[in-house]
Amino acid sequence: MSGYAFDPCAKCEEMMQPYLDRDLDDNQMREAEAHLDGCAYCRRRYRFEVSLRRYVRTVAAGKTMPAGLKERLSALRTPLHEA
Ligand SMILES: [Zn+2]
Repeated sequence: MSGYAFDPCAKCEEMMQPYLDRDLDDNQMREAEAHLDGCAYCRRRYRFEVSLRRYVRTVAAGKTMPAGLKERLSALRTPLHEA
C-alpha cells in the first residue's frame, strides 16, 4: 500500500498515549515535547487525540457536542499539507 502523504511515526506510537496521560517523567516529557516540535505527523496526531478526549469527556458528562467540534475532528483526520 502506498499513497499516504506521510508515514505514521514510530515515536508517536511509543509516546503519544503516555504523553496524553501525563504518564511520563520530566525527561520523557521534554523528549516528547521536543519531538512534537519537530514532527508534523505527531503534532497532527496529538491535536486529534486531544480533541477526541475532549469529545469523549463531553459525551461522558452528558453534554451535547460543541458546535463545530465534529467538523474539526473530521478535518483533523484528513491529511493536509500544512504542518
Ligand atoms: Zn513523530
